[in-house]
Amino acid sequence: MGRMITVECDCGFFKDDYMYGVNMAYPKVKKHQTALAKSGYYGKQWQEFLNNDPELSVNAEYRLYQCTSCYKLISEYCMDLYRSSRDDGCYYTPEPDEVVYHYKHICPDCKKRMVYIPISQKHCLYGTNDPEELVFCPKCGNIVIAKLSGFTD
Ligand SMILES: [Zn+2]
Ligand SMILES: [Zn+2]
Repeated sequence: MGRMITVECDCGFFKDDYMYGVNMAYPKVKKHQTALAKSGYYGKQWQEFLNNDPELSVNAEYRLYQCTSCYKLISEYCMDLYRSSRDDGCYYTPEPDEVVYHYKHICPDCKKRMVYIPISQKHCLYGTNDPEELVFCPKCGNIVIAKLSGFTD
């Protein structure tokens, strides 16, 4: 089930439609993103990897990414390539050790590297001290809590 994430800050920043995870439409999404990648939409390298190796799959789950430079926060498709023997159907997403190529997410505004922010259930309830889970306000740069605000079907 897909999740909706809200990010809210004392400075006035508010956005409630960050998407996270895998929803009902995932098999369709995965097929579509795979086709896009094979046609070169995600770069020449991804196109070649996928066309040359039929065992590679695309992880098309939504994830939260934050720019390390300007703090822009977006949700987009992960697009890592993985190889799995545990893949048990069209809603499967890979374990970290199955990922063969990590897709580099680039900030649409300043072109710097974006990092993946894993959002745990615990984070949404209590906040976090885990440096990997820290979310910074895109407006003022303070640390904010990413809250679970609902589910997508
Ligand atoms: Zn940026
Ligand atoms: Zn702020």
